[in-house]
Formats: sequence, C-alpha cells, structure tokens
Amino acid sequence: MKNKSDLPEDEWKKKLSPEQYRILREKGTELAFTGELLHNKKKGRYVCAACGNELFSSDTKFDSGSGWPSFYDAVSKDKIELKDDFSHGMHRIEAMCKKCKGHLGHVFNDGPKPTGKRYCINSLALGFKGKE
Ligand code: FE
Repeated sequence: MKNKSDLPEDEWKKKLSPEQYRILREKGTELAFTGELLHNKKKGRYVCAACGNELFSSDTKFDSGSGWPSFYDAVSKDKIELKDDFSHGMHRIEAMCKKCKGHLGHVFNDGPKPTGKRYCINSLALGFKGKE
C-alpha cells in the first residue's frame, strides 16, 4: 500500500478540495475570519487535513484576533516542520506538516505564555477530532 502522506500531486488534487489544495500544496492562505475552526472551543485534537497527523491540542488554542485559528504550541516538536519563508517581501517562519509536507500557516513570536509562539494556521489545513 502506498504511504498516504507521500502522494503525487495529482492524488492530492483528488483527495483535497480545490481550496484545501491551494493552501496545503500551493502554500495559499484562506481569507481571515472565514475558517470553520476559528471559533471552535471544543476539547480535542487538531489534525492535518491532508494526512491526519496530530498537530495541536485544544488546550493550546487561543483567540489571537488575527482571523486564523491560533495555537501557542504544537502537540510535539516532531509534528511540524519550520522553514524560513521570504515570500511577499517579508521574513516569516512557515509551518508545515512534517509527515506530508503540507503547508499549514506561519509561526510568529508574539504569542502568549508559556511559549511566546503563535502558530497561525489555516482552518482548511486542519481537521478536528473532538474528545468523546
Ligand atoms: Fe499532513
């Protein structure tokens, strides 16, 4: 069986919605304040919408006012790959799913304690698994 986190681009295209594909595979950004999970306050886990990799816990979600779901920490460091991003004339840190390399969003240093980080993540790049 094929590793489902290492698909050719045409397979991702079939698996993801066009908007999810644009974000996850082409490093796009959803419009602020449109994400379904932006105001989700339920307890549970946030996973990569593409491959299901567990990325964030609801315990670290906070309202940043940015218009995108925001977290101050990842479930663990080995879930997310960080990369310098110099696009749009800025220097930002891109956050990708380590498993499938899908683009998630960016990480900024203006988050709350204890980490001071703000993982600014596209809602469409995430799935949510509520706690039963
Ligand atoms: Fe993934």
